[in-house]
Amino acid sequence: MRRVSILGATGSIGQNTIDLIARDPGEFDVVALTGGGNIAQLARDARRLRADVAVTAYPERLDDLRAALAGSGVAAAAGPEALVEAAARPADWVMSAIVGAAGLAPGLAALEQGATLALANKESLVCAGALVLETARAHGARLLPVDSEHSAVFQGLIGEDIDAVERIIITASGGAFRDWPLSALASATLAEASSHPNWDMGQRITIDSASMFNKALELIETKEYFGVSAEQIEVIVHPESLIHALVGFRDGALMAHVGPPDMRHAIGFALNWPERRHLPVARLDLAQISQLNFSAPDDARYPALRLARAVMARGGLSGAVFNGAKERALDAFIAGRIGFTEMAVVVEEVLTRFEANAGYMDAAMTLETVTQTDHLARTWADAAMAERA
Ligand code: NDP
Ligand code: MG
Repeated sequence: MRRVSILGATGSIGQNTIDLIARDPGEFDVVALTGGGNIAQLARDARRLRADVAVTAYPERLDDLRAALAGSGVAAAAGPEALVEAAARPADWVMSAIVGAAGLAPGLAALEQGATLALANKESLVCAGALVLETARAHGARLLPVDSEHSAVFQGLIGEDIDAVERIIITASGGAFRDWPLSALASATLAEASSHPNWDMGQRITIDSASMFNKALELIETKEYFGVSAEQIEVIVHPESLIHALVGFRDGALMAHVGPPDMRHAIGFALNWPERRHLPVARLDLAQISQLNFSAPDDARYPALRLARAVMARGGLSGAVFNGAKERALDAFIAGRIGFTEMAVVVEEVLTRFEANAGYMDAAMTLETVTQTDHLARTWADAAMAERA
């Protein structure tokens, strides 16, 4: 039996992971499941999968979780330290699917105990790429990408020499507002930004897809994970979301990964790696699809991509600044405090302010410095938004 833990089990990726694991009950021994506020779902899955422990991120919800697990034999715990302890419990395979920078410390704990870490939490690589890779290396742990584009690139590189790679192209659907007039973006509502044309995902990444902050994070994630230069990575708008990424080799060949927009493919690939097994995803009928479309992303529509390029050029802790400011701006957009297009303005202001205090971004990268930088970026994002109000 393979021992597995799922961090962020109650979310979109977590639930898709559970869907796959629950199909083979004899094969998996579930160690830990973690969630946030969705106590009922967490307890239901922990009971059903006979987990050793269920953890909520919120200490004030511990009593609710205990009550929901009463008589089940599943232990209950709560709070950020308990998340790290759950991730540190010996397991063979750990899904990192907490949303946001909160996923970094538990993911590192999973790597430190030598587990294979299936990484959906892109923020870990954006905030602390070098630290994550070094932790994996130092503990002999494997890191497998789950973000669909990165899983696609990973698959395109099997049996290939990374030195033969000329470029990596990740696709973007263009999000909810791809075809909106630019002038309408400033007044886009939360409901409008929360619907994705092709993928069914958590609310935060769906809004990030509309603004292309998601693709911006993925540019940085690509650079960190595959160790290529920023100049080698391209973004192409592909409205059908059927090609997830392409790898371009020095002989001019482009290898494309094509599949339906269903995260169970990338999750299942990471779960079964290095084997390929049957997965319950739709099979594409290419004759019926008949055509695929591509266009260059519009810089005016998607300023997040330009900011990501600046972050990749800057290096150091600028990824943690970028992500922390973005998370805070997204919180404010969701709360109705700032407009859709203001998110990028706020993030750029925070990056500029850090640049004027360059020492912060040039500190050595440790979990402590990344966490401090993340907090300061959020504080400065709040200050930037207060000035605008
Ligand atoms: P969801 O919002 O659906 O789920 C997030 C999970 O994290 C939930 O279990 C949630 O608990 C938990 N959580 C929320 N806040 C905290 C916190 N502060 N501390 C600990 N746990 C917390 O997100 P997704 O599943 O969509 O995304 C998860 C990650 O995967 C993100 O990094 C995203 O960018 C990435 N990803 C997602 C894809 C997708 O298709 N959804 C595709 C590619 C990458 P609860 O709900 O109980 O409050
Ligand atoms: Mg993706």
